[in-house]
Formats: sequence, C-alpha cells, structure tokens
Amino acid sequence: MAVVGARSNRHNIMAFPGMTAATSQQAIIAATQTFYHPPISTQDIQPDRPIGYGAFGVVWSVTDPRDGRRVALKKMPNVFQNLVSSKRVYREIKMLCFFKHENVLSALDILQPHNIDFFQEIYVITELMQTDLHKIIVSPQPLTADHVKVFLYQILRGLKYLHSANILHRDIKPGNLLVNSNCVLKICDFGLARVQELDENKHMTQEVVTQYYRAPELLMGASHYSSSVDIWSVGCIFAELLGRRILFQAQTPIQQLELITDLLGTPSEDDTKTACHGARSHILRRPHKANSMAALYTLSSQATHEAVHLLCQMLVFNPDKRISCADALSHPYMDEGRLRYHSCMCRCCQTTPAGRQYIADFEPVSPHVFDDCFEKDLTSVHQVKDRLYQFIFERYKGLYRMPLCINPHSAAFKSFTREFPQNSHIISLYK
Ligand SMILES: [Zn+2]
Repeated sequence: MAVVGARSNRHNIMAFPGMTAATSQQAIIAATQTFYHPPISTQDIQPDRPIGYGAFGVVWSVTDPRDGRRVALKKMPNVFQNLVSSKRVYREIKMLCFFKHENVLSALDILQPHNIDFFQEIYVITELMQTDLHKIIVSPQPLTADHVKVFLYQILRGLKYLHSANILHRDIKPGNLLVNSNCVLKICDFGLARVQELDENKHMTQEVVTQYYRAPELLMGASHYSSSVDIWSVGCIFAELLGRRILFQAQTPIQQLELITDLLGTPSEDDTKTACHGARSHILRRPHKANSMAALYTLSSQATHEAVHLLCQMLVFNPDKRISCADALSHPYMDEGRLRYHSCMCRCCQTTPAGRQYIADFEPVSPHVFDDCFEKDLTSVHQVKDRLYQFIFERYKGLYRMPLCINPHSAAFKSFTREFPQNSHIISLYK
C-alpha cells in the first residue's frame, strides 16, 4: 500500500490516481484529486520500503503518486515534546525549504498534517539518494583519486553555499554526505545547523559535531566559533577518503585532542586563545610535541604533494588561520574534480550540439542569507506548532502542486510508524 497520497482539503478524502484498490493499500503517500495527475501504471510502482534509520527516525523509499518518481520520505517524530526540540525542527524545516543547490539536500515537499490537534510528527520528502560516504569508505570497493577529488569538490561546493547563506552545519561527517549512483553528493541532516553568531560575547553550544570530526576549538571549550568548524570536519573526511580509515579515532574528547596534537604538534599560546582556561592550561602543560604532518603522505599513494598541501591548510589548529571553503576551492588540487563534475555530472551546465555550455560561476554563493529572525519571539511549544502548521500550508500557495499527505490505510505506513527496520536496505553505489 502506498504510504503517501494527495489530499482533498475540503473532504479529507484520500485518492490514489492510477492505482487499483489493492495497490492503493500499499503506498505511504497519496494525492488528493484524481483529475490532477496522469495515471501511473501499477506495473511501474515499486513497493515502499525502509532505506535507513537513526536517532531521527526512519527514512523510506516511496513513490510520489503525482509523477511516479521515487523519493525519500523522512519522518521527524515527537516534534513538539519541548520548546528546544520543536524550535530546532522548525529551523531545520525552514532551512530544507530555503536551500536551492545541487550539493545540498532540500525538501521537495512537506506532507500536509490532517489536523493541528493531531499534529505530532512531520514528514519530509527529499530527493532519493542511494548511499552515503561512510558506507562507501568502509566498503571494499576501490576509491580512485578521481572519486576522492570529485567527492571533495562537491563537499566544498555545497559548504561554500551554506556558509555564504550564513549557515554553520556543525555535523559534517561521512554519514551526512549522501551519494547517488552517479557520484553526485549532497550534504544532509541540518538538525544541528544554525546561523553564524556574529556577536563574540554570545555563548554558543559546544555539544555539536560527532567527536571524530570535531574541531580543536570545540574540544577545548570555545564559547564562540565560526564556519571554520565545518572546514576542520572536511579536512578529517579528506584524510579518511585518502586513507580509508578515520583520521582521529579516540574514545574521549581529551584523547581526541591528544591525537590531534600528536599530528599537528603542540599549539602556540596564540592558537589556543579561544579555548577555555582549563583546557588551555592542560594542553600547554603537557610535554611539547613536534609537528608530524609529513605523516599525511603515508595515508595512501593518492596523498600527493598537492593533496597534502591542501589538507594541511584544513587541519590547522587556529580557526582564524584555517582555509575557507572559497579558498580551498581555488586550490590547484580541486581543478580536476571541478572539471569532471561540470563535464558530465552537474545540472548547471548543458550539453548542446555545439558542445558543452559551461555556467559562468562554477561554485555559486547563496543569493540570500538565511534569516533566523522567525525564531526570536517563539516562547511556547503551542506557538511553534501553530507557526509550523501555517508554514506547511502556505508553502503550497502559488506552487500549483497537489498537496500530499500520509495514507493512513497503508500497511507500509503502519510498519513505518511502529518499528525501526533492523537492516538498512541502502543500495551500494557500486553495485
Ligand atoms: Zn555545471
């Protein structure tokens, strides 16, 4: 049974165009008005199925009943448990609807809730991606120098866009970099993302970024930090792509800092100026360590001079001296990844009978910064719920798209809400 369908706003009736009664009991989503959509051959409809799960809930691969396209359906459960979590989800939804970039996952649709009184979870539809960079790195499949270059290029290209919109991702890690069968990469999971804080006196949480990819200033308790925390994570991932193993894999945050200083050497006093007093005196009291960045050449045969040169500018202790996304993209190491991406993978350039027509700006910035003023006056869960409900409805105005909703009669939906799958069914990139 389809999990998703389109909804009649007036009568709240599900309709599943092009499907028989039997198949309509299988889809999770549905569409409302049968005349709106061309019929979809039931032979072409693949069954809805789970493709991943985690702390956030379950992601399913489902069919959009409006066009038969396979999409990903993510459930965000228990959204309105408290003010902090509901504001965080509201921010994430607003971001997913704001993004317009090939290397950043965005919301194709938000399913319409039936009634505000029963509005407890949110269902988001995004593009369907086959795998993620973590699964690729731990797989036995070969990763060529071309793979590393085109993946790194797309990570930096997406991150340049996010940073230009004034957004810090704060959880860049291989599992949050989705990849499709054509090696197109999209940054996902904005649960920890926020707008850059310009006021250095305002405290920012340090409870961000998975430990292995956490920048030294976060490990040392900096109360203010910038987009360079994301660049540190990219440096760790770049080294992981080259070496096929996690660069700094420690058990605790203190050990994590030890591993970092083993490679980078003891930082200068100036390089630890954002650290909290305790962390700073701890690290400066330790026996002096020499820089051993030359060890990066031993990561793999792909760790060429150019690769290590760029990597050394990402793995810099002092966040003010760490390279920016825009500067990293200008590094000569990125040239081949850029060429490959825009020659055959991107959607921004076109192949015409006269040859490939390249876009003027290969790595565009966001035309607007993301404005988070909408969350400033939110003081209650009820208020967030009301605004989010209105936001989802107003998104459809002028879009000329049939609203979608959950098909509650679907057997797949019942298992979707009941349990997490034990095994992920993500298709390997290289199958
Ligand atoms: Zn292009």
